Amino acid sequence: MFRYHEKYDCTNESKSVFYSCPWIQHGLVFFKYKLTMCCYCGHSAEGHTLIRDNYSGQALDFEHIFKQKHEFNRLAKKGLIHENCTDCPFLIPRWAEHWEQDGDYISNLYISHWTECNSKCIYCFAAQHPEEFDNRNKTYSVLPIIKNMLKENILRRGGSIHFGGGEPTMLPEFEDIIRLLLDYKFYDLRVHTSGIKYSPILERGIREGRLRVIVSVDAGCRETFKEIKRVDAYDIVRENVKKYASAQVLRRHALTPDLYMLGSICAGTKFIIIPGINDTEEEVENWIKRDVQDGIHTTIIDIEENWYKENEQNLPQSIFDFIYTIYNLSKKYGTHFELYERVENMLLENQERVPWYNRDTIYKD
Ligand code: SF4
Ligand code: SF4
Repeated sequence: MFRYHEKYDCTNESKSVFYSCPWIQHGLVFFKYKLTMCCYCGHSAEGHTLIRDNYSGQALDFEHIFKQKHEFNRLAKKGLIHENCTDCPFLIPRWAEHWEQDGDYISNLYISHWTECNSKCIYCFAAQHPEEFDNRNKTYSVLPIIKNMLKENILRRGGSIHFGGGEPTMLPEFEDIIRLLLDYKFYDLRVHTSGIKYSPILERGIREGRLRVIVSVDAGCRETFKEIKRVDAYDIVRENVKKYASAQVLRRHALTPDLYMLGSICAGTKFIIIPGINDTEEEVENWIKRDVQDGIHTTIIDIEENWYKENEQNLPQSIFDFIYTIYNLSKKYGTHFELYERVENMLLENQERVPWYNRDTIYKD
């Protein structure tokens, strides 16, 4: 389960250093049938580092959970890394006292324990993780667990709280969870939604600058939307995007004395590039133009996971050129350009093919 790797062995350092990540230290993820430390699975060891299997909403023993996390630290000090974490880009070395000074609490939460959805995306990960989409059992409730974590001061501000799923707005306790977190002044809440169902509590989060809503659109017109989503809901989604965008307060929201959120990026749409289906300049330009018209100030892109995995070893130059085209369109329309992790890593790993890409300056253009 834990294996020694020379590259993670810091025992020769003059001061105590070890490898860990924010999720090992302070992470908790609710999946439909398991609890994990993280939801990350973009590297070969596939993440989803397990805390408990066969989980369906039972009361949590946090003493035990933090003991598990301490064990990761104890072993990491000897260069022993969990098999699911090997080669994860989130593993970084830090002084032991820095990793350990904060104490035991959860600040990174990912809620992904239901699978119902009102879209039928052709790329849905249901096919890749059928065990998580097994709907034989009813979804358990996380609201009482979160309430208890808040009462016990186990769940604290400072990290990120994201929703997976399934479509969040279809989760019966969704509005109550978001309301509770907003009332407790949490920030860096992020919700990905199909945009088919409008949620007033998301509007509140946007207005307060504590929550980002990312609506999955992937298309610049109704026909392409229908082909990808397999539901005829383009117009309603665009209408809801406009309503979320109009809730944005265009100023810096002070979250802590050192941290702020730009009100103009609290509502966004996302375009997953699916080669062969939506990878034309016309499609992307129509998407950006409509976004700008609806009050969206971001251009957020990702690349379809299945296509990426199939082509990872032999990526065509055309995909890099297409991303450059989107980048230039984003500049043309004055939007804030954002890359999701997979696409960003793809550019970082192929720097010679994207001479225009400089991570340090690209977001400042
Ligand atoms: S897989 Fe990566 S993100 Fe997840 S717990 Fe391991 S090191 Fe952290
Ligand atoms: S919105 Fe997400 S969960 Fe729903 S069908 Fe699309 S990919 Fe699957």
